[in-house]
Amino acid sequence: MRIAYRPYYLAVIVILLFSAVAAGAADQTVVLKAARMFDGKSKSLIPNSVVLVQGDKIVDVGSTVTIPSDAKVIDLGDMTLSPGFMDAHTHLTLDFTGNFNERRLKELQTNVSEMTLMAISYARATLEAGFTTVRDLGSRFVGSPEFVDVALRNAINHGITPGPHMLVATKGIGATGGHFDATGGYRDKLFGREPDPSEGIADGPDEIRKAVRFEVKNGANVIKAAVSGGVLSLADEVDTPQFTPAEMAALVDESHRLRKKVAVHCHGDQAAREAIEAGVDSIEHGSFMKTETLQLMKTKGTYLVPTLMATEYILSKIDSYPPALQAKARAAGAARSEMFRNAVKMGVKIALGTDAGVFPHGDNAKEFALMVGLGMQPIDALRSGTSNDADLLGIGQAVGTLEKGKRADIVAMPGDPTADITATEHISFVMKDGKIFRNGPATPRTTAVRDDDVDLPAD
Ligand SMILES: [Zn+2]
Repeated sequence: MRIAYRPYYLAVIVILLFSAVAAGAADQTVVLKAARMFDGKSKSLIPNSVVLVQGDKIVDVGSTVTIPSDAKVIDLGDMTLSPGFMDAHTHLTLDFTGNFNERRLKELQTNVSEMTLMAISYARATLEAGFTTVRDLGSRFVGSPEFVDVALRNAINHGITPGPHMLVATKGIGATGGHFDATGGYRDKLFGREPDPSEGIADGPDEIRKAVRFEVKNGANVIKAAVSGGVLSLADEVDTPQFTPAEMAALVDESHRLRKKVAVHCHGDQAAREAIEAGVDSIEHGSFMKTETLQLMKTKGTYLVPTLMATEYILSKIDSYPPALQAKARAAGAARSEMFRNAVKMGVKIALGTDAGVFPHGDNAKEFALMVGLGMQPIDALRSGTSNDADLLGIGQAVGTLEKGKRADIVAMPGDPTADITATEHISFVMKDGKIFRNGPATPRTTAVRDDDVDLPAD
């Protein structure tokens, strides 16, 4: 009898030992220490804070928490811990930088698979700049049916390639001849036929519903539409409305029925007013919005995603764009600073979003300084790029603050960002899902990610 039991006991002991080792490896507490912490919601920084991480979760936060004796302590010294930054408006699969006409030609010459491989470096540069979550608002290749943003999101989620958590919009929905009609500006029939709802181009409520359904079927987390003209499109005026109120109502109704939020590209005031009335969740850009429209946004709780970096970059390289686009960029740039100042003063909800792809991926954090330069308090700019974004994206339960139970998406920057907001541009520690992706210098940027700095104005 005794002999018969021995292997059983041995097996139990071996299993217990193995599970103890496995649990120890998975559950070792990592302690992040730094001189200051921005917790994502408080009005000021908290001195000498620590964040305890186990697996992919934050298990404790504060300046008085007990540190387990077997914890791995990472002392970051004179840095500020923050929730991972978020960008509510990126195009991680695209590159609109450089000379406009050269880029347009390159887009027609480049195989979409090659663009996908380049997007891998864009995603890494974005994560290493401290952006642990992005809402990617549009991935379209002229005449190609691919869903590169869906593929990139899935590859990142499966750990195949490093990058931020992505909420993707697939192709973006817009009207014939509107900002999203990629055949605009080319001669008629060059691409053989007019684009259709499967490419995001839809006219009338029924086609718009079809486009929404098609995108959700193919993996969209959020719906993006262009309801007014835009800067980088050749066949429209920058502020004209491109959807009727009935079309906007269909867009919002269909998206919300499928539990998807709606982000609309919109520069013009009339289109913004109609979109806000229709119930969209965010206005992207919003350059020409008047104070009455901002008041309507405030009343309805609609977010503004200002994308100041996009205009800043275009204006800094204005000679690289055709004359028609230069005029549109100048008009939008002149209007948006006053609009943004008014939005801040009036207390409109603002979520950080940059339009990365219009400028080089990885420079996203320069948006913080632009917002502060136009009147936002640094602490509010930090909130805008963390908890406000999480709220807009509908993921506030999981991320956006450093709190017990939240996902361990944590970054650190040197110095005090409330004294000098450009500290956000010098992230040197990045943790996502409890894994450290960067603790020191970033991966050198590849040629795909051009280090094409924008000189920002001092104020
Ligand atoms: Zn955009």
